[in-house]
Amino acid sequence: MQLTGNLLIGQESVFGSNGAIKAVNASTGAAIEPAFGGATLADLDRACALAWAAFDVYRETAPEARAKFLETIAQNILDIGDDLIERCMIESGLPRPRLEGERGRTVGQLRMFADVVRNGDFLGVRIDPAQPERKPLPRVDLRLRHVGVGPVAVFGASNFPLAFSVAGGDTASALAAGCPVIVKAHSAHPGTAELVGRAVQKAVKDCGMPEGTFSLLFDSGRDVGQGLVKDNRIKAAGFTGSRGGGTALMKLAAARAEPIPVYAEMSSINPVLLFPNALKNRGEGIAKAFVQSLVLGAGQFCTNPGLLLAVDGPELDAFIAAASAALKETAAQTMLTPGICKTYQGAVTRAAEHADVATAARGVEAKGENQGQSALFVTTAEAFRKSHELQEEIFGASSLVVRCPDLASMRELIESLEGQLTSALHIDEADHADARSFLPALERRTGRILVNGFGTGVEVGHAMVHGGPYPSTADGRSTSVGSLAINRFLRPVSYQDLPDALLPDALKTDNPLGLNRRIDGTLQLAK
Ligand code: NAP
Repeated sequence: MQLTGNLLIGQESVFGSNGAIKAVNASTGAAIEPAFGGATLADLDRACALAWAAFDVYRETAPEARAKFLETIAQNILDIGDDLIERCMIESGLPRPRLEGERGRTVGQLRMFADVVRNGDFLGVRIDPAQPERKPLPRVDLRLRHVGVGPVAVFGASNFPLAFSVAGGDTASALAAGCPVIVKAHSAHPGTAELVGRAVQKAVKDCGMPEGTFSLLFDSGRDVGQGLVKDNRIKAAGFTGSRGGGTALMKLAAARAEPIPVYAEMSSINPVLLFPNALKNRGEGIAKAFVQSLVLGAGQFCTNPGLLLAVDGPELDAFIAAASAALKETAAQTMLTPGICKTYQGAVTRAAEHADVATAARGVEAKGENQGQSALFVTTAEAFRKSHELQEEIFGASSLVVRCPDLASMRELIESLEGQLTSALHIDEADHADARSFLPALERRTGRILVNGFGTGVEVGHAMVHGGPYPSTADGRSTSVGSLAINRFLRPVSYQDLPDALLPDALKTDNPLGLNRRIDGTLQLAK
């Protein structure tokens, strides 16, 4: 499929006149064709005007029509075929199997949200019927449903060019909620963004959705992305990326005359806790699995295990030796962008030069362009506590083992950690009592707690939380993965004493949409 480099503004496809962006071949560092025209502020204004005009129509589309729209996007993405995978491999440096899997996940997410829309529970219908006879005062008729918040700006991440990008989880959940979406394409994968954007644009047309339901903008600087968050027709933003980027957008959103939420998924170091019995009985096996998880995707996962805590002693020495032996064998891997690789190398050098940090092992030296060499470091609990920089995420295949004097000091260290996306406990049955004593502290800091595994590998389902207290995300009450992600883009509206003829279908007395409803507080399942 021929790339045009065009902006997609509603059904229009036009080359932006505000500078140009070229993708870079991640493996060679060479710029690749074509150029993508940057949007002007006038383009941004047109996309916002269309999205605003679409909102009231799109949010009232029938559940079946909206579900079909999401499924059509999924099918259109599959129909791009191998062109999508090939372009994405060049732009991201990620291998084919990984990207084919990610495409499956992206399509699966869209289909899951189609089911969510059909099921209708996301509307959260509640009806408190009128009680005209109630004394001393009659009770009014109150009916509640959730509606989309309004047009949503989406900023995808470099490390998931499909599943967290143009038609990724943020877009799928916002569209499912009834919100038009404007995507600011990630400059690391503009070709991938155009291909997927055209699949969405075509689905809008195929399904007869209002034109402004979707737009895709390229930004040659920061003005368009920031302008989107500042525009008063945008009512929420979804972001996945760095802490610097996320917090910059949060500040802009908070400074608006009408502040809006920015659901930013940012950095996390995902502590792994080795408990004594597991360490003693299975240390070597855990060490190998840990290294496998650490180097997966060149370590470029927000759920990468960047910190490992255990009680010091000969068993931890053996663990570090086994992990080091495994890590030394790991090949250097192409990273997503030259910038990310440079940042990684700088952070690893700083860790290696830190007075209180020892280098346990490095992976095989990088031979090609833009490759990250894995690293394992060791420090003490005392050093970790006093050096805040050791808590900072190193985006890549690098991890830090902290030698703790005992379990009590390990728990204290947990208390000093920032909010995290995941934490992983490695335990045997004899560790259960100790592990239980850690749970309250972990619950306060973590979105997902897991046992005898690692946080890399995020299931897309109904019980998944990919979120966590600040700064892992902007708002720890939310998730960006799984069906609950839709809640970020909904708000409740209550209707008091409206005649049936004026009520939306979701709230009409005879329940034409066949929804499950909470009547007077009691859940009534649709027949
Ligand atoms: P990034 O540099 O923050 O970029 C994300 C997007 O935001 C891009 O579209 C970027 O524009 C835009 N952006 C960044 N700073 C901005 C600013 N100040 N104003 C306006 N727009 C801005 O992140 P990345 O390179 O994609 O990803 C690497 C980082 O993301 C890592 O730190 C990683 O841990 C984190 N990450 C977190 C999660 C999570 O779920 N928590 C998931 C994946 C990645 P440009 O395209 O112009 O650069």
